[in-house]
Amino acid sequence: MIIHIDMDAFYASVEELDNPQIKTRPVIVGGPSKQRGVVSAANYEARKYGVHSAMPMITASRLCPNAIIIKPRHQRYSEVSKQIKAIFFRYTPLVQPLSLDEAFLDVNQSTRLFGSPIAIAKRIKSEIQSELNLTASVGIAPNKFLAKLASDADKPDGFVIVNESEIQSFLDPMPVNRLWGVGKSSAKRLEEQAIYSVYDLRRKKLDQLENIFGTQTAQHLYNLSRGIDGRKVNVESVTKSISRETTFSNDIDDLTEIRRVFVILTENVCERMRGENLFAKTIQIKYRRKDFKTFTRSDSLVHATNQTDTVWKTVSQLITNHIVKSVTPLRLVGVGLTNFSQDNELQPDLFENTDYTLDKISDRINTKFGSAALSRAKGLSKTDPKKQ
Ligand SMILES: [Mg+2]
Repeated sequence: MIIHIDMDAFYASVEELDNPQIKTRPVIVGGPSKQRGVVSAANYEARKYGVHSAMPMITASRLCPNAIIIKPRHQRYSEVSKQIKAIFFRYTPLVQPLSLDEAFLDVNQSTRLFGSPIAIAKRIKSEIQSELNLTASVGIAPNKFLAKLASDADKPDGFVIVNESEIQSFLDPMPVNRLWGVGKSSAKRLEEQAIYSVYDLRRKKLDQLENIFGTQTAQHLYNLSRGIDGRKVNVESVTKSISRETTFSNDIDDLTEIRRVFVILTENVCERMRGENLFAKTIQIKYRRKDFKTFTRSDSLVHATNQTDTVWKTVSQLITNHIVKSVTPLRLVGVGLTNFSQDNELQPDLFENTDYTLDKISDRINTKFGSAALSRAKGLSKTDPKKQ
């Protein structure tokens, strides 16, 4: 059995922990302001008004004008996250964090010491409660895919077990968009085939699905509708950041030129990220002025990504905001990715972004022929940056 543990309204709960008098009020963590940015987390009081994470702040503050708005304090959340992880490690070394507030645990080697997976999960949940004064929702199931759905099935403070014999009764009534990798546009394509629930999906034969979705996606959907998922709890990756920078042979003040170099660097770091099967949440640019003063500027996404175009949008915005005529000429620029999630638990919609496939193809060609072989047209540069 696999355990998935997911903290309830994590950022908002940490804020309540540090400031108990806000507990009875609606709390929205997000920003930078009421007008700008998106909701990172909302407590359950705020959710009563329809506020949820990833919602634009402006919508959230219209739905819930009395909410207390708090800017995210990532450092504090990662501090608490470490304490939570320390509790997991009491019971197993096989911990795969997906983000600051959720993780998969494989406790199958720990049962002689600590009892059944259910007993272990109960202990972890109660230790999180008693030691950190936070609630977690727990899912226990034969594999990762089902355990994640189970932890979400009875939030907050949930504890849901899905045994082998209950898989189909658990999955069948679910809408298809609950399946891993099925987002809005995939769900739409499934609906066009009159597939609304997992049950509808399961009634389709594999070759029927193949005709509609292609071999790979069909197999994925076919397996998930039957609760089949062979992925192991993956503890390997410890990559903390991926970055690439380049020093110009001559200082550059042409903003278009600078932007072109940023495209090449962005493609490079994204390619490496995908090579390690990582998904980044925080994107950083770096630039050094003629006087050697060096600056870094970063921004975080709501959902981790491994897609070049999504990363590029953020890089481009950071450039627009910070690299203006007055800071040029520049001697060096760089792009960095941090705050990784492992594995593809946070996989984007299967069909949503066709560029995902383009990224993959581009990686293959680059591996084969070297990095310069394929670069999108917007990255083609007169200046060939010296690689470091
Ligand atoms: Mg959570």
